Amino acid sequence: MGLLTEKDFQHDTEKELDRYQGLLEAGLSEEEARKSSAGSGDPWTLWHKLPHDCFLCHKKLTLPFIYWHGVDDQMIGFHIQCAEHLSEPSQKT
Ligand SMILES: [Zn+2]
Repeated sequence: MGLLTEKDFQHDTEKELDRYQGLLEAGLSEEEARKSSAGSGDPWTLWHKLPHDCFLCHKKLTLPFIYWHGVDDQMIGFHIQCAEHLSEPSQKT
């Protein structure tokens, strides 16, 4: 479970460079390392794995929102208010 903010969707150049260096150290050629690391700082790879609608109210999710891994590694997301609603200790029936 975690909280996603706009920062998580910004391009992470440092992460990409890190991966590039790591691949070089692992023995890849410069060209291969560049190809393989391209996009690793790209936030859209993350975006594809994420739910776009709130699991509770089914409305479109906006940042920031809460997510966690459900069954079968499916990710589910909640508006912060909806997650708070879910975690209320006493649920009225
Ligand atoms: Zn919601």
